[in-house]
Amino acid sequence: MRAINKEKPVLVTGASGYIASWIVLQLLEKGITVHGTVRNFADVEKIQHLQVLQQNYPGKLKLFEADLLKDRSFDQAMQGCELIIHTASPFLIGKIDNPQQQLIQPAVEGTRNVLESVNRISSVKRVVLTSSVVSIYGDAIDLERNNKDKFNEQDWNVTSTPSHQPYNYSKVMAEKEAWKIVKKQQRWDLLVINPGFVLGPSLSNRTDSTSMEFMHQMVSGKMKSGVPDLYFGVVDVRDVANAHLLAGFTPSASGRHILVAKTLNVSDMARIVSQNSHDKVKVSTKKLPKILMYLFGPLMGFSWKYVNNNIGKPLYFDNSYSIEDLGVLYRDVETTLNEHVQTLIS
Ligand code: NAP
Repeated sequence: MRAINKEKPVLVTGASGYIASWIVLQLLEKGITVHGTVRNFADVEKIQHLQVLQQNYPGKLKLFEADLLKDRSFDQAMQGCELIIHTASPFLIGKIDNPQQQLIQPAVEGTRNVLESVNRISSVKRVVLTSSVVSIYGDAIDLERNNKDKFNEQDWNVTSTPSHQPYNYSKVMAEKEAWKIVKKQQRWDLLVINPGFVLGPSLSNRTDSTSMEFMHQMVSGKMKSGVPDLYFGVVDVRDVANAHLLAGFTPSASGRHILVAKTLNVSDMARIVSQNSHDKVKVSTKKLPKILMYLFGPLMGFSWKYVNNNIGKPLYFDNSYSIEDLGVLYRDVETTLNEHVQTLIS
């Protein structure tokens, strides 16, 4: 049981990111002071929406420069904070040239680096880590291989490797590292948020986050001849942000938390998008034949093994612990998709 003093600042790492920006806004809306880390102050495009928040909430949002791979980079921003929300981690799928450098090192060493700061800064009482459902499973086929109907928080991804599903591997290794480090002390506790595929409106104009890029491809007509027969556990970005706050400020909360509102096939997403965009979006609801995925998938960074283990394989999650332990309320996925598309169109 750890009660966090809301008068103390809360640190959000990777504050410029798609999910973190909503966490920052929701903290500010509650009157809480935020310390946000960004990689590079000179990258104005990435941080201009945070500068607008600084104007809207005078004196409540302080930005610091910090890099996951620089030793002691987070110490200054963490001073005086009781709650740390660690979201920063590269989210890249598809064609990855150097998985170790682009994904695994920043995710795993970055988590270790942030938690070493936590061990040094004596004010910290709780860390909320943004992990993922891909730390729970590696490929959709794992569900049938394990004879399960749904994944839950007791499941761990044991199938991803640096060469097969490297993003998934980076997330499970980072989360395992965090659980290893927290067990060595008693001053602070660790709560983990495991979101599915996060969609919904963005606070910035960037389209380079993987969630934004995916919907951008749909809206810009790149999927007009068909969509991959893939299933995702979808969740709204605002509900994910809220779950981080609930995890931070619910003294009795503990453990891992799957955050998924509903499983959708990409063709379901396409149907919702085309029905509600009043013909502004040209997207096919037809599933691409698996043979085409075998032929063209490798060009987009999806190996035959990926296609075999994921295309046409349903994927379901048990979200009951997030409701029971944190009191998460889920928006319906139609609202999420519609509002996401409206922001892209406008
Ligand atoms: P995002 O917009 O790409 O955010 C990633 C953040 O990490 C950015 O702020 C980025 O900084 C920061 N970052 C990356 N490498 C860094 C480094 N070396 N040093 C410092 N900061 C670094 O993606 P997101 O979707 O919000 O993801 C946030 C977290 O949620 C990640 O941990 C991701 O794995 C997790 N997650 C995302 C989803 C999803 O569907 N979006 C689902 C489950 C879990 P820059 O702005 O400078 O690039």
